[in-house]
Amino acid sequence: MKLSKIETWITYPTLSDDSWSEIKPFLFVRLTTDTGIEGWGEAFTLPLRESGIAEFIHKLSSIIVSMDNLLPSTFNYKAKEISNKHRGIDFSAATNAIEISLWDIQGKLKNKPLSHLLSNKIKDKIPVYANTWSEKSPSIKALSERAVQLLDEGYGGIKIYPLQNRTIEEAAECVSSIRNSIGTKIPLMLDLACPDDLNLAIRLAPLVSKFQPYWYEEPVDGEDIQSLIEIKKLTELRVVTGEKQFEIPHFKQLLKESAADIFNPDIAAVGSILDMVAISKLSSKKNVKISPHCWNSMSIAASAMLHFCAANDNTDMAEIYPEYLPHAKRFSDISFKINEGHATLNNKPGLGTEINVSSLSAICSDYKETTI
Ligand SMILES: [Mg+2]
Repeated sequence: MKLSKIETWITYPTLSDDSWSEIKPFLFVRLTTDTGIEGWGEAFTLPLRESGIAEFIHKLSSIIVSMDNLLPSTFNYKAKEISNKHRGIDFSAATNAIEISLWDIQGKLKNKPLSHLLSNKIKDKIPVYANTWSEKSPSIKALSERAVQLLDEGYGGIKIYPLQNRTIEEAAECVSSIRNSIGTKIPLMLDLACPDDLNLAIRLAPLVSKFQPYWYEEPVDGEDIQSLIEIKKLTELRVVTGEKQFEIPHFKQLLKESAADIFNPDIAAVGSILDMVAISKLSSKKNVKISPHCWNSMSIAASAMLHFCAANDNTDMAEIYPEYLPHAKRFSDISFKINEGHATLNNKPGLGTEINVSSLSAICSDYKETTI
């Protein structure tokens, strides 16, 4: 079995149906084999970089054409060899997209869901939480109503951004109000989104501790390991980091320094699902959990994330952007349903998500094809 074609699609940015947030462009890849099997993948994207990442994906076809087996592990080895430790998140996202596609192909070839290729021990229910990010800086009242609504819709936890356009005192008031609205038993995650000033995170922590946040995400830039160590010494809150980082060495260093309690590498930026598995194995030895980040579409990347979580003992809640779901359903028959705090995957082979190409094409700004 050999590769015969690589295609990429980049979607238009749009406003979510409920106007809650802006939906960024997504980058999808489809690999087609000479036996007619199609595998879908997705790359994490950042503004203005989408076409560049797509270009990496097409260039990477040069290392896939020599592969007879189209195994994710073989591709992963070759991709790391070609980068020769010159790491970059955009290249990592490109390899990630291809590797997810190769897993989809392997699942379809073996007639097994991706999670069953990763492990023999599968969770039927994967805990999920809802991200409430909005560029509009919602009021505390709007955020409270949103949180309650999302819990009603079946999410098991709520993530908020208390420092978004708020002073430290207002941030503490926000956390207090949301906790009051959702009750004491629901996990409430605080994402500080890397403030430039470490003192903000240090000063906010004691003000919000009494509201029992489930975690304290990106209290500083994830590259700043010394500051992560410092904040971990000053607070009992669980420190989360890793969404902007990728590949194994960075996470090894965090573990060596005991710099965080939970890692949240992005499922479509970390480099590959195999990197996620390796990071999780190393982390479990130090009681550090993996809670995958997924600022991607809720179709292909979210499916990959949930298969990884279903197959992995060392995971915490997976991240869902609720308002992205109607967008995903516009072009895909997604692999999971959310109910009572959990996602449940279908039993279809590979990722289990079917893409309707004509519907996808209708919302895309860019399409490119490389025929081998
Ligand atoms: Mg975050």
